[in-house]
Amino acid sequence: MTDRDDPEEFRALAHAVVDWIADYRAGIAAHPVQPQVEPGSVRAALSPLPERPQPFDALLAELDRVVVPATTHWQSPSFFGYFPANASLHSVLGDMLSTGLGSQGMMWATSPACTETEQHLVDELAGALGLPETFTFTGGGGGTIEDSASSSALVALLAALHRADPGWQTDGVRGDERIYVSAETHSSLAKAVRVAGLGSKALVVVDPEPGGHALSPDALAAAMSADAGAGLRPVLVCPTIGTTGTGTIDPVRRIAEVAREHGAWVHVDAAWAGVAALCPEHRSVLDGVELVDSFCTDAHKWLLTALDASLLWVQDGSALPAALSLTPEYLRNPASESGAVVDYRDWQVPLGRRFRALKLRAVIHARGLEGLRAHLRGHIALAEEFAGWVTADPRFTLAVPRSLSLVCLRVVTGRGSEADDAATRQVLERVNASGSAFVSHTVVDGRYVIRVAIGAVTTGPEHVTALWDQLCAAADAVLAESRS
Ligand SMILES: *Cc1c(COP(=O)(O)O)cnc(C)c1O
Repeated sequence: MTDRDDPEEFRALAHAVVDWIADYRAGIAAHPVQPQVEPGSVRAALSPLPERPQPFDALLAELDRVVVPATTHWQSPSFFGYFPANASLHSVLGDMLSTGLGSQGMMWATSPACTETEQHLVDELAGALGLPETFTFTGGGGGTIEDSASSSALVALLAALHRADPGWQTDGVRGDERIYVSAETHSSLAKAVRVAGLGSKALVVVDPEPGGHALSPDALAAAMSADAGAGLRPVLVCPTIGTTGTGTIDPVRRIAEVAREHGAWVHVDAAWAGVAALCPEHRSVLDGVELVDSFCTDAHKWLLTALDASLLWVQDGSALPAALSLTPEYLRNPASESGAVVDYRDWQVPLGRRFRALKLRAVIHARGLEGLRAHLRGHIALAEEFAGWVTADPRFTLAVPRSLSLVCLRVVTGRGSEADDAATRQVLERVNASGSAFVSHTVVDGRYVIRVAIGAVTTGPEHVTALWDQLCAAADAVLAESRS
């Protein structure tokens, strides 16, 4: 490209880039899902920064030579680790358009289309998910697209601190704030507490319901009352819809009722599972959500949209600007002062923001809400079938009941929990080392567990069957070894 961007040169190079992406995706199943790479080897293979312009082809060649072999292929149909990070090709196109426009949507005035496209999207999507109208701009609330569920949790916490004591903006935190989570709550809440300067002493880990993993409303009530009695201030409660470890769904309604008695903000973290509410038959996961202050679900996990797109809604549309708005002279403008527009810079920590709505809009435009539901339903059906195989097989057991498209299992040796844990870990290591599939792990009740999260865009029955065959073969080998 010449010193001043040349659209015609771009046109030609972009065709080559699109071809490269299409070829990569077409051949993705041929790569080991997780590369076996020594630390430092990628850096050692990369060429130094050039002093003079280089042909663009050479960059693509370097991708083939260095980057692809050291990439974990999240878009592989045999990727079952963590939670999915869908980057559907429609979202890639939407992302190209967004980057092509290159706007900086920090305020309505700096790109009206960026702000209003996002407002329109989150309002309509709230309806599609079955969130109450009070979460829409039309209904007095509103939504935004943050970069991550971690950021969503952080800004919810800042709004909660502000509501609990607006003096927070001048005096800082007091040290008596308390934030309630469960042992399964995502670590991003602990990080938000740290970033906000509260210190981990502010984080109260509430006991689970007897015999389960969900946050217990009774234990929450006891903890909040004891804290309030001791002069501490309950500021925020975070129930999770679909915990990262096991997919546990906390009883949001009863938790919100308890929190309300203490005036605490309720932030629902539904980063992975919340999108399932697009399907009417799974909408019950949102039970009680009308009682909460903020609700977050990631489009960049299971909703076909490339990172970064975390959807956050609040019932009080003024809460985030009240907590976060700061207006230096150079950002003043008549539209903001009229009060008639939303300035999304006041809904997030950074000032600048990308046109994130476009990639999600591209996905929904191309697939329709029906297509999104089919995507989710397909994975849930596969997980149901997979969980059935686990239950019926004496070599394995479910560690917890299946949650939507997440299945947690472990190996049964018949020789005690230590032997089971060791065997389960070895089975995971064997499957991952083979490169033909990738699964990740967690620990549940002290026991080592394999998580199978079905959710890549291209995963079909054949990939789930192949994973099951791999797990069975690995279990046979490990069980035989441990007997000899
Ligand atoms: C993945 C996950 C997060 C973190 O999501 P990011 O968008 O990567 O910050 C938070 N909470 C839950 C329940 C998750 O599964």
